[in-house]
Amino acid sequence: MKDCLFCKIIRKEIPAEIVAENENCLAFKDIDPKAPVHILIIPKEHLGSTLDFSDENISLLAEMGLMSNSVSRELGLNAGGYRWVINTGKDGGQAVDHLHLHLLGGRQMTWPPG
Ligand code: AMP
Repeated sequence: MKDCLFCKIIRKEIPAEIVAENENCLAFKDIDPKAPVHILIIPKEHLGSTLDFSDENISLLAEMGLMSNSVSRELGLNAGGYRWVINTGKDGGQAVDHLHLHLLGGRQMTWPPG
């Protein structure tokens, strides 16, 4: 999508600290980290949110999970654990309308989330 912030990162039109990339997914550091490690994993296909999952594209969720596992291993998060977050829509706190999985780690998380 032409004006989508994360699509621009995918096209390398705006800079990002990319930590992993393959044919279908991209992982990069969050610009405003909420934990010592805060990575965003996104599909390269523009999906607005989890609401856009369908039979045709649901495999992207698995690919995002596998990329997260590889990144969390590389960044040394697996021993202590980490948190996955996907915000959907206004009530979910979604600010960027391109589906993204937050990978948060490096500190003790609290529950319930805000
Ligand atoms: P959400 O509230 O779930 O939509 O999360 C959006 C996330 O994108 C926030 O954690 C932002 O800090 C992050 N973000 C916004 N702009 C950028 C950018 N240019 N590069 C990296 N992360 C960004």
